[in-house]
Formats: sequence, structure tokens, C-alpha cells
Amino acid sequence: MGNNTEVIKMVEVRLENLTKKFGDFTAVNSLNLTIKDGEFLVLLGPSGCGKTTTLRMIAGLEEPTSGKIYFGDRDVTYLPPKDRNVSMVFQSYAVWPHMTVYENIAFPLKIKKYPKDEIERRVKWAAELLQIEELLDRYPAQLSGGQRQRVAVARAIVVEPDVLLMDEPLSNLDAKLRVAMRAEIKKLQQKLKVTTIYVTHDQVEAMTMGDRIAVMNRGKLLQVGSPTEVYLNPNSVFVATFIGAPEMNILEVSVGEGYLEGEGFKIELPDDIMEALRNYIGKTVLFGIRPEHMVIEGISELAHMRRTAKIKGVVDFVEALGTDTIVHVRFEESIIKVKLPGHIPLEIGKEVSVLIDLDKIHIFDKNSEKAII
Ligand code: ATP
Repeated sequence: MGNNTEVIKMVEVRLENLTKKFGDFTAVNSLNLTIKDGEFLVLLGPSGCGKTTTLRMIAGLEEPTSGKIYFGDRDVTYLPPKDRNVSMVFQSYAVWPHMTVYENIAFPLKIKKYPKDEIERRVKWAAELLQIEELLDRYPAQLSGGQRQRVAVARAIVVEPDVLLMDEPLSNLDAKLRVAMRAEIKKLQQKLKVTTIYVTHDQVEAMTMGDRIAVMNRGKLLQVGSPTEVYLNPNSVFVATFIGAPEMNILEVSVGEGYLEGEGFKIELPDDIMEALRNYIGKTVLFGIRPEHMVIEGISELAHMRRTAKIKGVVDFVEALGTDTIVHVRFEESIIKVKLPGHIPLEIGKEVSVLIDLDKIHIFDKNSEKAII
């Protein structure tokens, strides 16, 4: 804490070929990842992809089968949790019901045998940061879920951890509180600058909180990058469809000389894009376009689109979300979802022209599902 500063030490965390097997099952498969000093890194992936296991290995709660974990230059791979100076916040909060808020927050300091006045000073500091000074005498049963979560976070930062680990800490909160707490945790982390690894399966949480996002699936790290990078340049169909809602449209198309052809639509392509697809002419690839990277001619603005391709279809279904409208446009057997800002009344069965932003299209290899462009 230092006397006048609230900045916690910064530590780089490096994972080298980190692997965890449970019997024959590989939960984490040769992970290589460096989390920078003071960074907020989000580990994102579907249930069972190995996020929690990775976090538990960093905390020292799980021993890797192979690979290394470094905090700065220190090899901590086989150190017990107490020698790592990490704190972890769990989904279940795990605050102790028989202790007051004060005692809960003070507990890790007592274990470390801090003097009483230092404990008092730190508990006050953490409680102030989390805005729970008024609650110090209460028991967890007398708190709301959001307040309990604040206590858990206060208890995690009170020891000035080198690394803060958070495992889906907001998933037990209702939707509104979750949004508010996202911003609070992010601001707190920016203030403390503590290296933070945050696990979630919620892509919106990842996009809004992470300095960088590491996307995992089936024990493997697929892509690491800033939220904008992974959103704009996903390296695979998995990342492309996991991030963004509604998800990216993915359609099978064949590559012709100067165009892509799917079921019921044909997209003319400029030379520079064709150049990247030269080796794929005559083959089938996966075409990807996000719903927000298209407009409907005559209905919404072309805004920032530099060059477009036009395809004609029929309105199949309309989802009015209030702030946006999702229009499902049918092209014979294919359906493409287009997201338009605002409330757009459109009749089902109406013929429309969809304009595709050609600078936002994605092409993936059909077999490897890796991005070609
Ligand atoms: P979730 O979001 O559901 O917690 P996750 O991405 O955090 O998922 P992990 O909890 O890391 O996933 O689990 C990864 C895989 O390893 C899962 O298939 C899980 O069943 C398996 N696994 C985890 N712990 C053990 C264990 N102790 N013994 C056997 N298998 C385990």
C-alpha cells in the first residue's frame, strides 16, 4: 500500500507450455501466455474449456502436469499458494458467515500476523475503496449479494497481492448489478494497477473489462489480443462466433474468379481481396460477416462503408430489440442476420437489398476454420 499511494506492486505472469491432465483428459493443453505488469487480462471461453484450471494453477491450488509458471523472474510453478502472494475471488464469494465484514477482510492479514494497527489501517483502506465502510460490523447474512461480493474483493486486495485472480466473480449477481460491478472492478484495478487475471464465459464482460482477452477452447489458447483486435480480426471461426452478439454470420461459399457464391447470393469482390483468395479459386470456404457490418439499402445509412457489395433477398423475420433491429434476410436456403440501429419496421416477405461492407468481411478455411482474411 505504501503510505501515500494505493498502487500495488506490479508483476508479470508468464505461463510456459502449461499443461494439466486429469487422467487421460487434457484440461489445459500447452498454454503459452504472458500477462503484463498491471494488466487486466480476461481468460474467455465456454464452460469446461480449462479457464478455472488455469487460474487454479496460477494460484497454486492445482499442480501442473508439465510446464512452468513465472511471476517476474521467479519460478513459482511448485510453490504453495501462501508463498505466491496471490489473491483469488471466487464466483461464490466465499465470505465466512460467522465473521463480521471487518473480520472477513482482516482475516488474511491476521494469518500473516500483521500488527493490529496495520490491520486496522489496511481494512479501512480496502473498505473505503470498495465503499463498504458502513458495513464493517455486519455479518454476511445481513448483506446483499453485491455487498458480499465487495467484501470478497476487499479481502482479496487487503494483502496487496502481486497477482489478483478472479473466477467469474459477477455471475451470481443480477444483470443490472453485474453491469455496475463490471465498471467498478475495472476502475478499482486501474487505480491499484495490480496484475489481474479474470475468468469469464461472458463475452460482453470480456470486451468491456479486459485490456486484452485470451480466448480458450478445449484446453487450448486460440487468440490473445485487445478487445478490438479479437473483435475485428478473429483468427478462427470459433473466436469470430464466440465474440459479438448476435454472432457473426458464417456461410459456406465457393470462390469464383472475382466473386463468392453461396446458396441464393453472389458477392462481387475487388481485386485486392481476390488476390488473398487466389489459391482458393474453385474451392469452398467459409464467408463471415458481422450483422452490424451490413445495411439495408434505402433504409439505413451507409455510414462508414468505403466499398460495398449488394445482394438481394427477402425479409424472413424481424427482431425488434428497442435500441436495435435484427433483420433476418433469406437468400434461398441461406439466412443472413443484419443488425440495424433503432427501430426499423419491416414487413416479412419484403424484398430488400443488403449492402455488405467489403472491408469487414472474413474468409475462413473450411477445414481448419482458420482465418484466410
Ligand atoms: P467452467 O466455466 O464451467 O468452470 P472452465 O473453463 O473453468 O469451465 P475447468 O473448470 O478448468 O473449465 O475444467 C476444464 C475441464 O477439466 C472440464 O472438462 C472439467 O470437467 C475437467 N476437470 C476439472 N477439474 C477436474 C478434476 N479435478 N478431475 C477431473 N477433471 C477435471
